[in-house]
Amino acid sequence: MRFDTVPTPPAVRDRPRDPRGYPVPAVTPWEDGEPRFALTDHARSADCARMRLCAVCGTPMPPGSVWRVVGAAESAAIADALAAGRPYRNLAPTTEGPGHRACMLYASMVCPYLARPNARRGTAAPQPDGAAGRAVRGAARGATGAVAAFGAYEYAVTATQVLFRFLDVVEFLPHDTSDVHLDELRAELAGRGQRR
Ligand SMILES: [Zn+2]
Repeated sequence: MRFDTVPTPPAVRDRPRDPRGYPVPAVTPWEDGEPRFALTDHARSADCARMRLCAVCGTPMPPGSVWRVVGAAESAAIADALAAGRPYRNLAPTTEGPGHRACMLYASMVCPYLARPNARRGTAAPQPDGAAGRAVRGAARGATGAVAAFGAYEYAVTATQVLFRFLDVVEFLPHDTSDVHLDELRAELAGRGQRR
């Protein structure tokens, strides 16, 4: 979705913009004055990991759950674990750090590198059956990704990478197209005073 059709979390509104107006995530490196959206900056990502800062907006995350946008394979693995009642953790660490709920809902719809990782696959998932957003949706099998919350994360800063592992799925919102989270983001932004 175009960034200007999605409500922007306040902390994201304060981020620097690229020439098109897209907000630049906190972990995105800059080269010659241009953001490189496809890359992750080592020092910025290490700062976020160590200081518990959101990878998108760069401001502190409160204690408790952290959120991520996951791709199709990880979304399916989480769905399987939840369906089987097994605890889930990503055994292969990822370089993608966590963030706020609003920031990750926003990023799932706006960031081209997160929003539709398997867009070319072209298979539409069945529509969610109207269950509330916090529930595990039956459409997960065909999801192109998900916004997921985890109870905790671990990280390791190596010479070349910052690696994250996430434990304890506490919320799982699969998507087949990224705009399914629009209502959830609006509700999150409207209710954010109560959540803090
Ligand atoms: Zn944030």
